[in-house]
Amino acid sequence: MPNKERTDEARAILIIYTGGTIGMVKDPVSGLLKPLDFQHLLNQIPELKQFGFIIDTLTFDPVVDSSEIQPGFWIKLAQTIYDHYGIYDGFVILHGTDTMAFTASALSFLLRNLGKPVILTGSQLPIGTLRTDGKENLISSIEIAADTYNGNPVVPEVCIYFEYKLFKGNRTTKYSAETFNAFQSPNYPLLAESGVHIQYNHDAITKPEDNKPVLLTKKLNTNVTFLKLYPGISEKVVNSILHIDGLEAVILETYGAGNAPRLPWFINALSAFIQKGGIIVNISQCMVGLVDMAQYETGNTLHQIGVISGRDMTPEAAVTKLMFVLGTASSISKRKSLLELSICGEIS
Ligand code: ASP
Repeated sequence: MPNKERTDEARAILIIYTGGTIGMVKDPVSGLLKPLDFQHLLNQIPELKQFGFIIDTLTFDPVVDSSEIQPGFWIKLAQTIYDHYGIYDGFVILHGTDTMAFTASALSFLLRNLGKPVILTGSQLPIGTLRTDGKENLISSIEIAADTYNGNPVVPEVCIYFEYKLFKGNRTTKYSAETFNAFQSPNYPLLAESGVHIQYNHDAITKPEDNKPVLLTKKLNTNVTFLKLYPGISEKVVNSILHIDGLEAVILETYGAGNAPRLPWFINALSAFIQKGGIIVNISQCMVGLVDMAQYETGNTLHQIGVISGRDMTPEAAVTKLMFVLGTASSISKRKSLLELSICGEIS
């Protein structure tokens, strides 16, 4: 519950701290970065007291480096937001950058019909360090989470805020382990950019459908894997992936506009997997552009054997969408039709 007396005008934001570099310190013995408690982090940002609204905090136990995150964590996070949805006007999630784009994509499927902002942020340098990027990321995320337009939240969807930019969560990918601008959304415009003012791109922001309650899903099916093509990939490698026990779906990472070799053993192996009820979704290894299996013969062969186009989905959106679709639909036709749809703006 908000810890201050709440008036009608007072907005309330919940910060959920899950871990990541933003809250880490160097272990004096090993010299390695490890997560620290949230109070330490808050002590570094006295500026938070200047916000004119209620800011409450909730810490996950344990806090983790995001490389440790598993799908059960996404469900726990979605459930936490759902449980506090009626009480708060917006949510800011502090999260490691390594798998932030996976979590953002997963949340967009697990929490549909969102009418309030859920903003993930973190940093490349811990908040206690002199040149940290964490303070600006956190402060602007809180401001965006509380911002309104015509009395409604400006950004009622799952987003990532990083280095002056607000991205649509399920269109975002981490592309730099070095620079402060660690994220990109190569196939979707920015939702906002912050300078002296925060400039929103209202046309790119999803508008919630009137009077639809937020919908929590807690079922994810992880019987899915990636198969990334490269010249020289062997029949043995492809077959050992396609014969993984219990595997139900494969994300085929193809070349360019969705192209793959037409080697008979390769096409036959994919076709046999589909014939047995397996699902193959084609996404491109290129970050920009989309899969168009009608462009080249090498792509069209995949289309003919029943490979589904993932169009311009990021790998993060593709794998979390598949876990969601396999978790919610059991018939092949229902799974296929959900995969061809944009469920929450993850494909153009
Ligand atoms: N390994 C860290 C994490 O993802 C990196 C970061 O936060 O930037 O938790």
